[in-house]
Amino acid sequence: MGSIQKKPHALCLPAPAQGHINPMLKVAKILHSKGFHITFVNTEFNHQRLVKSQGSDALNGLPSFCFETIPDGLPPPQNPDETQVFPTLWKSMDETCLAPFKSLLTKLNASSSPVTCIVADLFMGFTLDAAKELDIPEIVLWTSGVSALMCVHEQNNLLERGLVPREASSVLANDHLDTMIDCVPTMSGMRLKHLPSFVRKTSPGDEYMLEGLCLQAERAKRASAIIFNTFYELESDLLDALSSVFPPCYGVGPFKLLEKESDESVEFIKSNLWKEENTCLKWLESKPKSSVIYVNFGSTTVMSHQYLLEFCWGLAKSNCPFLWIIRPDLVDGKSAVLPPEFLEETSSRGMLASWCPQEQVLYHPSIGGFLTHSGWNSTIESISSGVPMICWPFFADQITNCWWCCNKWEIGMELDTDVKREEVSKLVIELMNGDKGKEMRTNAIDLKYKAQKACTSPFGSSIVNLGKVIHLLQGSPS
Ligand code: UDP
Repeated sequence: MGSIQKKPHALCLPAPAQGHINPMLKVAKILHSKGFHITFVNTEFNHQRLVKSQGSDALNGLPSFCFETIPDGLPPPQNPDETQVFPTLWKSMDETCLAPFKSLLTKLNASSSPVTCIVADLFMGFTLDAAKELDIPEIVLWTSGVSALMCVHEQNNLLERGLVPREASSVLANDHLDTMIDCVPTMSGMRLKHLPSFVRKTSPGDEYMLEGLCLQAERAKRASAIIFNTFYELESDLLDALSSVFPPCYGVGPFKLLEKESDESVEFIKSNLWKEENTCLKWLESKPKSSVIYVNFGSTTVMSHQYLLEFCWGLAKSNCPFLWIIRPDLVDGKSAVLPPEFLEETSSRGMLASWCPQEQVLYHPSIGGFLTHSGWNSTIESISSGVPMICWPFFADQITNCWWCCNKWEIGMELDTDVKREEVSKLVIELMNGDKGKEMRTNAIDLKYKAQKACTSPFGSSIVNLGKVIHLLQGSPS
């Protein structure tokens, strides 16, 4: 009698932030649909936030899709809804999490379904030591665009050529912002100002961020592969170039499109740290096709009250219907208070919410454009939906993502950092009704079809790459 083949068991560990938990959950669901048993590991603090924002049902999981937690090594913040400061949190996890992570593995390995592979965020590089000890394969997930990892990889090259400063200094960095980066073929056309802010070291915290990232990127070389929420046709040169210095780099996205093909049994499992407001979907039903501009700056952007006002009056002046998501902590130091005159003037064509099901919103036919901070998840979700963008990058890789959208893919227009209401209204009108907006929409729809092909046609690049990744996770050579 042949032995019964056990399910492979993947332990998935995201970095502890919204923009990292979301894509990792998608990867976990895709693997689950391919027959993997999943253990998804959040930090204790984030687990509490997730339970609070969406109820414990969304995290109860299934016998084949379980949740576990590890401590993040920090004292609990006083405010249970607080967004933790990422570099501090990351440093703490890197220094303290290996031991609790190994204890968790020991516990799971004593069960009837031992862990057979690990999928961890690139920021969680300590997991590679545990994988090595257990002699099981690990795949690393990079949750931003491929270009951002290329910038980290090229850091030494840029330093040696004196293009980026050795120490954090906004003055030095600002001195030659328009200098072209011509030493990296895959980045040709980019100027220094388009590098992620931590590569240019514009603030003191960037030094730790960059140093840490370089270290983690080095560690990631021990993984079986690095996966990205992108598709080969979108970033082929970058993926090819990185694959020659790292383990194979696979675009297996947009995850959302592969996840769509997955099993419905895990659909109820969600990862919102804020409570989702679904009423906006109903409101969108009442609006004509492609008529609404969707405004959302993600989970970490914090702006001044003055900028909030500029967006208010810019949106009002555009006369365009808008859905604007204002997180409770969007405005620096105080909660976002909108002028009553603005609320009155726009009440018939504006909808406000504090957190929404963004992917459903972007897929809604009434959405015609996205005013975004250019986080990578938002960017790839917009591309998957064929929605053109106005980009207002805030920091880190958002700046680089914006450049690719505006200059390479021609699906975005950049809004100046020092935002003014006149420019907001001008760009919104152009995006929604102008010729440039029309061109960008055509380009975005073209990319959407390419993404769909990558994820749904039998030899689509993401499907083929997913097959390779599953092979590796099952312990077979690539
Ligand atoms: N998101 C959401 N609802 C919101 C705002 C954001 O579901 O109201 C999700 C969005 O779909 C994306 C993630 O939160 O998956 C934000 O990630 P991104 O990389 O765009 O930006 P970050 O928050 O990391 O700056």
